[in-house]
Amino acid sequence: MKIRLACLGLGALLSVGFGPLLAAPSKGPAAVTTERLLRASEEPGQWMSYGGSHSEQRFSGLTQINRDSVKQLGLAWFRDYDTNLQQQGTPLYIDGVVYVSTAWSKVYAFDARTGKPLWQYNPKVPGEWAANVCCGLVNKGLAAYDGKIYVGTLDARLVAIDAKNGKEVWSTVTLDAAKRNDPIQRYSITMAPRIVKGKVVIGASGGEFGVRGWIAAFDAKTGKQVWRFYTVPGDPNLPPENEAMRKAAATWPKTGDWWKIGGGGTVWDAAVYDPKTNLLYFGTGNGTPWNQKYRDPSGGDNLFLASIVALNPDTGEYVWHYQTTPADTWDYDSVSPMMTADITWEGKLRHVLLQPCKNGMFYVLDAASGKLLSAKAFTGVNWNTGVDMKTGRPIVVPESRYENKPFNLQPGVQGGHGWHANAYSPDTGLIYVATQDAYFPMIGDATYKQAGVGYNLGLDFMAPMTYYQKNPTEKAGFVGFLQAIDPSTGKQVWRTKENQGPAGGAMATAGGLVFQGGGADSELRAFDAKTGEKVWSFATQTAVLAPPISYELDGKQYVAVSVGGAVPGGYFAPNYSRLLVFGLGGKAKLPPAKEYVAPALNPPPSTASAEVIKAGGESYNKYCSSCHGADGQTRGSNFPNLMVSALLYSREGFNQVVLKGARKEKGMVSFATVLNDKSADALREYIIAQANAAKKLMPPPADAPKQAHE
Ligand code: CA
Repeated sequence: MKIRLACLGLGALLSVGFGPLLAAPSKGPAAVTTERLLRASEEPGQWMSYGGSHSEQRFSGLTQINRDSVKQLGLAWFRDYDTNLQQQGTPLYIDGVVYVSTAWSKVYAFDARTGKPLWQYNPKVPGEWAANVCCGLVNKGLAAYDGKIYVGTLDARLVAIDAKNGKEVWSTVTLDAAKRNDPIQRYSITMAPRIVKGKVVIGASGGEFGVRGWIAAFDAKTGKQVWRFYTVPGDPNLPPENEAMRKAAATWPKTGDWWKIGGGGTVWDAAVYDPKTNLLYFGTGNGTPWNQKYRDPSGGDNLFLASIVALNPDTGEYVWHYQTTPADTWDYDSVSPMMTADITWEGKLRHVLLQPCKNGMFYVLDAASGKLLSAKAFTGVNWNTGVDMKTGRPIVVPESRYENKPFNLQPGVQGGHGWHANAYSPDTGLIYVATQDAYFPMIGDATYKQAGVGYNLGLDFMAPMTYYQKNPTEKAGFVGFLQAIDPSTGKQVWRTKENQGPAGGAMATAGGLVFQGGGADSELRAFDAKTGEKVWSFATQTAVLAPPISYELDGKQYVAVSVGGAVPGGYFAPNYSRLLVFGLGGKAKLPPAKEYVAPALNPPPSTASAEVIKAGGESYNKYCSSCHGADGQTRGSNFPNLMVSALLYSREGFNQVVLKGARKEKGMVSFATVLNDKSADALREYIIAQANAAKKLMPPPADAPKQAHE
């Protein structure tokens, strides 16, 4: 309490001209106050919130590491994490301590001077909850306030941790606890909480499964909910919660069961508190199911799916919205990171909200009114031919709705931009966007039925394979790169070379640099912020997807980043998940990467009938492909490659896992509600057939290791 009063006191002094005093660090760990957050730019040596400041610009004001000195940048220290999964967490740095979240919603605190671990917090998420998580068992970051660190967990709790010792202070189940086992409650949290005037704001994921999207504020001291805003209407037989829901309900069917599976519209990343307008902006995700035909055959706009929404953060009341993708049927979440900025607009300074959206369009909105100022494609886009600036609506290419015929969508469902952080430099006036160029053939699933396990998409998720077999000359691929965009024109100023898969998140600095993870290229890179020239890189032995931060300690600037992600070899390969910290003259070295040989592809012979294999393929598509990949292979490093599984040899072992949940602790729950002995047999035969087909195409690797690394 003393600390907070002292800071308010300093704030008052500041107004009479004692500015520099405010930069003095407060006592005690995570002594973050509302004042400090509001004046984050006056403490460039700290990184106190997810995006570095309320604007979420991810701009460091430090200059010691710059265009000239960056050549001397080296590894100062590193620490291994106890996980082999993907890392997405933005670290925080507050008064000598680095806090970082890792897979399974775990949190570390490190002494920034020595790298010594101070504590680790494990929220002990039940393994089986992984079946309710769409996109990896990841966590994007933390919030800090008044001596506490806040983390959202995969099983949808919001937890306050004592920054001194890592002990849990409170834990709030963010969903309706009484309905915990209801299929409509398949929520998870991977986003970073945001602090708004003593409240912790967070939303939850789950739009692929069947949930009703929301964002809510909780009291930072007690964990009690202050307000909750649902993003889509609920049961049409009940009165709407508020005027916004009444308005939204008019864009959804009056009858039908769509609301029973939640409708979607989840808030899983972008959230910006803007002290200038006293608004909280957030983005909402896709509808459930993806295919609008099964959600709303009438083709309504379905508010507030795929929208940017502004609320009053004190009350949770609706203020304005802009729907980026009306009647979404393409998984075009509008949840990619957003930021506020003051940019030159038609010759004058204007306070705007910026979003490079998953749908491939770069949006500039007036931050106060939500008025659309600009909407331009920043990557290949074939679902619209532009945005009508009078109505703000995209001019949709009718064929892109894939109702009658497959459509090779660009950006594909991977998006023109994902969760990977953007950065903005007020010095260059450029926004740095981790961009994706991706295709995905969209084909409706005629056999779609809502299920309590697996994805609910209404889409044939194996479409890419069959589509490209039939149309071998159609465009395919998924590459990532970093580009600099001038938001006042919407034009690209420079771009980097492409790498396979997504590019990592970015940070800009007053040293004239942009740091960015090279995705699966396993490099951390620095670029000249003006020209895009690559001026530095470091081989990280593993994917770099999380965005770096920068801080100052004892007069020295550091760059810190969480690494770990898809590596050749997939789930069983060591992925070298670590915190890496760089400083000028850093001489630390990573231990050499271990040699790794992937398990051999050695399936039993495929003897089942074509009919059985086809039936197994249909189950695989519905229940397995979202985690294990479109053709039985692993999708990245988060889930095992089933084609090399020893369980293909054992009907009993396979059924123990698939029907009895023998590996639920690892996230592989029982699928007995949708599969029986017969369909499990067919599923196994399908994977065996896929493995045999794959074996024909590639020579098996030499020797498999005796024990897989996990
Ligand atoms: Ca989505």
